[in-house]
Amino acid sequence: MTYMYTMGIDIGSTSSKCVILKDGNDIVSESIVNLGAGTKGTDMVIEEALNKAGIKADEIIYTVATGYGRNSFEPAQKTVSELSCHSKGGTFIFGEVRTIIDIGGQDIKVMKLNERGQLQNFVMNDKCAAGTGRFLEVMARVLDVELSDMGDLDYKAAERISISSTCTVFAESEIISCMAKKIPIPNIVKGIHYSVASRVAGLAKRIGVENPVAMTGGVSRNKGIVRALTGELNTDIAVSEKSQMAGAIGAAIYAFEEYKKVKEGD
Ligand code: ADP
Repeated sequence: MTYMYTMGIDIGSTSSKCVILKDGNDIVSESIVNLGAGTKGTDMVIEEALNKAGIKADEIIYTVATGYGRNSFEPAQKTVSELSCHSKGGTFIFGEVRTIIDIGGQDIKVMKLNERGQLQNFVMNDKCAAGTGRFLEVMARVLDVELSDMGDLDYKAAERISISSTCTVFAESEIISCMAKKIPIPNIVKGIHYSVASRVAGLAKRIGVENPVAMTGGVSRNKGIVRALTGELNTDIAVSEKSQMAGAIGAAIYAFEEYKKVKEGD
């Protein structure tokens, strides 16, 4: 029996993600490389995903690319927007979901879906880095902590500082002055998470938040952000270890659907 393997590649601003799907519904491998558009990240992530799946490139029947760098990836048969891929991938991961909040390296997107998982409306941040993964990366560097430790630090906070600037550059100087005043790092981290969450919640409220709500994108790995956003929106937010892969999963499903369409048209 031969299987139909399709590939989804999400070339983001910060990381490259690749998913290989069997018969349109079974994830056989997933891979992530922390290098974004315009780097060797795409080649590396594809090679890793193929190795993990134990298959060769020519066994992939259809490839769809998404993400910020999707148009620079020539081998893809088709490109699909991140909004469509996160809607499809989010529904695959979470089942019925009506609001998806995707926070990546440089974008915040809030998507509203109908009961069939189709995108109805969305809102995005402007060009500013405030509230994005990049903002958190800059703050972690200033504090000299690992990004992956930010969630645990948040849980250790006795209280939180309030950050008045939304601008990354000004927020950075506020944090430096908090450090000079010897404010405990967890309290600063919690304040940073709160400032991101209130910005994202403000954006989400512009289109209205409908339950169930889920988070996709790399920032969902930060449980401090998930907790702060849960408080700001006053609702449960589903996250999954696959949340960062949502765009690539959606792209791989689109690849399967496109292949079937092409075949049926023959
Ligand atoms: P893009 O698709 O724009 O490249 P991602 O959705 O991959 O972005 O998200 C990247 C962001 O995810 C980073 O900027 C960082 O803030 C966050 N991130 C990635 N890994 C972790 C981690 N282990 N812990 C906390 N945050 C993380």
